[in-house]
Amino acid sequence: MTELMKVVNLHKAFGENQVLNGIDTIIQNGEVVVVIGPSGSGKSTFLRCLNLLEVPTAGSIIFEGIDLTDPKIDIFKVRENLGMVFQSFNLFPHKTVMENICLAPIKSGLKTEAKAKENGMRLLQQVGLEDKAEAYPNSLSGGQKQRIAIARALAMEPDVMLFDEPTSALDPEMIGDVLKVMKDLAQEGMTMVIVTHEMGFAKEVGDRVLFMDEGKIVEEGTPTALFDSPKHPCTIDFLSKVL
Ligand code: ADP
Ligand code: MG
Repeated sequence: MTELMKVVNLHKAFGENQVLNGIDTIIQNGEVVVVIGPSGSGKSTFLRCLNLLEVPTAGSIIFEGIDLTDPKIDIFKVRENLGMVFQSFNLFPHKTVMENICLAPIKSGLKTEAKAKENGMRLLQQVGLEDKAEAYPNSLSGGQKQRIAIARALAMEPDVMLFDEPTSALDPEMIGDVLKVMKDLAQEGMTMVIVTHEMGFAKEVGDRVLFMDEGKIVEEGTPTALFDSPKHPCTIDFLSKVL
């Protein structure tokens, strides 16, 4: 395995509020890392720091050999290689599904319009929504919107996909379709960092689980180790409430 991302002593504060208190981890190419932990423990902030949606207060993030905290880097260029999927989809409401998917690859110069559309159709097939190319986001269910959001992120051909509670806003009957798309992606070798409360998915698809509490990784391990024999009192307490 080769290293894709190295996080060293990552800190983030919002004013007086110290949210991340020294995160260290290495994410390997092709690895599926699941992040769990109580609400407010800093999971979203951690994920958002990885693509500089939040600027760290200290520490470094080395992604493909480049330190993202170096003020000289072109973050827009780097961010093209980090796909992000949010709980709330964030699709452009006044654009069709295909326009949503093609916008970034065309604008950035990654693809011509024709190539972007061709690739867009392939991505729609991948997420099982090839009949929705001309639909507008408002006509779609939550689960469909989220699968489009995943296709849109994939359209930039990122080297890692970051997911922040991608199924938390969905009705229960729609969660499975989204998790299936994510599972297929994992099996194709995509590197993924996923914040989720779907413990079954974490067990089945995760290579490694990080348990966060108060802005730190307090325990990590394989899903089997972490779920079946947690060691830290905070992990034990958290899992007793969610499993
Ligand atoms: P989690 O995703 O684990 O629930 P978050 O990373 O969203 O945790 O939040 C951790 C803490 O950081 C919370 O106390 C939250 O209020 C604070 N926080 C997150 N984002 C911001 C922000 N943009 N401005 C100020 N405080 C924030
Ligand atoms: Mg969160």
